[in-house]
Amino acid sequence: MRPDRLNPLFAETAGLKGVGPQLAKPLEKLGLTRIKDLAYHLPERFVERRAVTDLDSASVGEQIVIALTVREHRGSSTGRGPFRVLAEDAIGNICAITYFGRAAYTARKALPTGAKRWVAGKLEQYGQMLQIVHPDHIAEDSAELIGQLIEPVYPLSDGLTQNRLAALIPQALEQLPELPEWIEPTQLARAKWPAWRDALTLVHRSEHPEARDRIAYDELLANALALMLVKNARRAQTGLPLKGDGSLRDKPNLPFTLTGAQTRAIGEIEGDLAQAAPMLRLLQGDVGSGKTVVALEAMLIAVEAGAQAALLAPTEILARQHHATLMKMARGTGVEIALLTGRDKGRPRESVLMGLLDGSINILVGTHAIFQDAVTYKNLALVVIDEQHRFGVSQRLMLAQKGRRTPHCLAMTATPIPRTLLLATNGEMDVSKLDELPPGRQPIDTRVVAAERIGDVVGALARHLEGGGQAYWVCPMVHENENIDNDLAAAEARFGELRLRFGDDVALVHGQLRPEIKDAAMERFASGGAKLLVATTVIEVGVDVPNATLMIIEQADRFGLAQLHQLRGRVGRGEGRSVCLLLRGSGEGGMGLSDTAKRRLALMRETQDGFRIAEEDLELRGGGELLGTRQSGDTPFRLATLDQIQRLLPIAHEDARLLIERDGGLTGERGEAARLLLYLFERDWGVQLLRGG
Ligand code: ADP
Ligand code: MG
Repeated sequence: MRPDRLNPLFAETAGLKGVGPQLAKPLEKLGLTRIKDLAYHLPERFVERRAVTDLDSASVGEQIVIALTVREHRGSSTGRGPFRVLAEDAIGNICAITYFGRAAYTARKALPTGAKRWVAGKLEQYGQMLQIVHPDHIAEDSAELIGQLIEPVYPLSDGLTQNRLAALIPQALEQLPELPEWIEPTQLARAKWPAWRDALTLVHRSEHPEARDRIAYDELLANALALMLVKNARRAQTGLPLKGDGSLRDKPNLPFTLTGAQTRAIGEIEGDLAQAAPMLRLLQGDVGSGKTVVALEAMLIAVEAGAQAALLAPTEILARQHHATLMKMARGTGVEIALLTGRDKGRPRESVLMGLLDGSINILVGTHAIFQDAVTYKNLALVVIDEQHRFGVSQRLMLAQKGRRTPHCLAMTATPIPRTLLLATNGEMDVSKLDELPPGRQPIDTRVVAAERIGDVVGALARHLEGGGQAYWVCPMVHENENIDNDLAAAEARFGELRLRFGDDVALVHGQLRPEIKDAAMERFASGGAKLLVATTVIEVGVDVPNATLMIIEQADRFGLAQLHQLRGRVGRGEGRSVCLLLRGSGEGGMGLSDTAKRRLALMRETQDGFRIAEEDLELRGGGELLGTRQSGDTPFRLATLDQIQRLLPIAHEDARLLIERDGGLTGERGEAARLLLYLFERDWGVQLLRGG
């Protein structure tokens, strides 16, 4: 239950003065539905204006506040072209106040002939004339504008203006309650940070690095505390210590020997499983590094110890593929492996449920369906989560709480997480790393090709397919905030064209297909029935078709580095040499590629090392960027910038660690304050792990 004193912060913005139905929607679009959201809607920059007595003392390009007397209106009320108001300063200089669009009515009303008005805006030169285009403010009284020479500029959405937000945010700030301090006092003093409420007020008034840092720190601390509470909760639970006798582990049908990295990771997992405290380990390994066999070995240890294991996959396709792979590797061991997804119904589902209950099924592979209430295990002792970044907090919570005995947990991810961010995203976990690819992998020949050469690309594709190869064609990703239907339309159009050329050899998958249809297409491609797979990014994760050795990515410059890397990982999986063609668009609005986009493509050509790509990706984005809002959800942060994460995250983690060490139940004075913080940043799942939370 959320503490009462936070209620004003969670009150709806719809209740604020001046918020009507037509404002509610844009507010919601920006995620500003509650008072606290408005308070935390930070300015992206500030405009600083200078109050000047006359135009002679202002320079072109400058943001000014000036008193002007209106002399004349020019332009027809209905006609085309700008509407101009000529106005005079204190010493007789003339300046035009210019409006475009249908603004005549507004202009006449705000600037009646003969009236003296205070005008705030940017001074520009238009031919011989000085002008201010669409002034930011017009006031009758000087105090209004002179008192506010520094003005915040907020991120906006359609239907929401700066002036509207600037009127709403102070209202929200007035409602902020006083809250007790959760930051360690010496840290607060050392960094000269203001108290919470002051900090939130200050950041809306001017650039205030200390206040900004404090707010970012709050967010980092909330996250660190929540992760630490998960870690603690797991430590306090008992799992089943799993000691295998080695009877199964040597038996799998592996057509290869394990890499050093795989052996090391298995050793680390074996060590964890032998403990009563449930394991919580992240296995980080680039695409193709061989995580599946590590998962299998871990699950076999559980089976040797007489327990059950489950493997959770993010999609139906992946679940099926894992099931098939594991069945093949475990043939002859006598280990019973079953599949359960949301699509299994009726008799087959019943029989799986029976087998889990009576223990005849040793390993279950599936989607989230494997955790439904109806699914009861005889003795589930290990859960493996593939592509864990696809799963949210609820799974973490569930894992921390399920059953009397908590299962050990192995999370796997092919997203190489840069060191800086690992603590932020997975700070509650121990980490094993597969930093070595299986031997004999040939580097993927990666080339950047101008989009105009698409004809040549199709020609090369035709030769590749004629030679018995298979290929992927990845369709452009239209801009994030545009309608996803556009992505779909692009994919379908390309599919249509390629089908004209290659006939039934082409299959199509995208996110909006019904699962059965998507799977059927995937299976047709995996079995070689289809030679070319046209796809949106749904093939990103985990698909394994070794015979597909050519990938074409359209408008590759629109993809993030991490995503390109994941996509490219679909080829280069078999013996043959693989090629990846990155079709280069002409940039946003045909303006040419930005340096960053060029650097990204160059890096793709240069290296295949996912960890290096991840680190450089971070570099390329620069310190001031917010990372949490990106498509891939790189970090769980909305306020902290990369630079702040780098500087403040280690401190926040240490602070959180000490606090939990001293007051694990968060019942002391600072502990109580920290609970408020967790609610404030919606990390209340952390609080819920505490008894009486
Ligand atoms: P990922 O880490 O991306 O999940 P997979 O487990 O799918 O990787 O493995 C990729 C491919 O590499 C599979 O075809 C698998 O059989 C093969 N593989 C895994 N380990 C080794 C190894 N030690 N030697 C050779 N091939 C291996
Ligand atoms: Mg995998």
